[in-house]
Amino acid sequence: MSKRVLSGVRASGRLHLGNYLGAVSGMIELQNSNEYETFYMVADLHALTTPFDPEQLRVNRREVVRDYLACGLDPSKSVIFEQSDSYHAEFSFYLSSFMTVARMMHLPTYKDKVKQSPENASMALLNYPILMAADILAYKANAVPVGDDQMPHLEIAREIARKLNDAYGLDFPEPEQFKTKGHLVPSLTGMGKMSKSVEGSYILLTDSLDQINSKIAGVPTDSGQGSELPSDGGVNTLFELVDLFLGENKLQECKNAYLSTGLRYGDLKKEISESIYEFLRPIQERRLQISDDEVERVITAGAKVSREIVGSTISQLRVKMGLI
Ligand code: AMP
Repeated sequence: MSKRVLSGVRASGRLHLGNYLGAVSGMIELQNSNEYETFYMVADLHALTTPFDPEQLRVNRREVVRDYLACGLDPSKSVIFEQSDSYHAEFSFYLSSFMTVARMMHLPTYKDKVKQSPENASMALLNYPILMAADILAYKANAVPVGDDQMPHLEIAREIARKLNDAYGLDFPEPEQFKTKGHLVPSLTGMGKMSKSVEGSYILLTDSLDQINSKIAGVPTDSGQGSELPSDGGVNTLFELVDLFLGENKLQECKNAYLSTGLRYGDLKKEISESIYEFLRPIQERRLQISDDEVERVITAGAKVSREIVGSTISQLRVKMGLI
């Protein structure tokens, strides 16, 4: 049997460059290799783990599919579906009996969210990593193209796989991250990672050249010269973007200039913005051609395949757990 891949993006807004570079680019690479069966979902249940607006969620669920297709996910090669159309929530409940509340509360990702807004620390949020484990284990997936922010969650999936295998003699692979070059895209604010939930931190895949220019122009910089290269902050973000969009030679040139004659950020920012826009333009053009019907067709077909596979994994576990 070929190896399997599972990944997804939360239906909490349009995709940004971090999503593309950390996850979607890896999803495409694995889809186009003959060695893998690929399953790509819209994580709409995960969108319920933070505050959400039902009407907006309804729109976002379809917009993520549109973004996927525009980026190059191909329904003839990958199963593309919405998480809530399948049985992931049921599977996640079974898996939750293997994890303690204490273990889940100690996850740094959970603690960060609680610190940001304690009033929104719901049971769904605590359960987020178990739902993600269910997403992955339901397909017995081996590889998971996700950004570095998901590593603590991937560890939970690995832990649950081991527990299921030990308890019941099952054969769940311990899933591994498929790491892309952009596995940690920094924020445009210069602090932390590019994130949907931090205004001013991201570039959307649908942004115009003007929008990109103005966002990149706002990245905080310094005098352009120093005896050491900055390892964080806005200048580091610019260097990362140079590496990702203009290549290693240009990055080396920028670093040399920073350490000697000085770097002119105005010119560099313009060059970065243009290269990002040139990269996004074909994606934006394809996006305009995707009809609502096409989106519906893709997820209807995807749901059917997903339910068969997840249903079969669930039955296997239900027998072991004494539920059948
Ligand atoms: P989310 O929108 O939180 O569901 O994230 C969807 C995917 O994008 C996950 O695999 C994340 O790890 C990835 N991702 C989100 N932000 C970044 C980032 N700044 N750098 C790299 N990957 C990211």
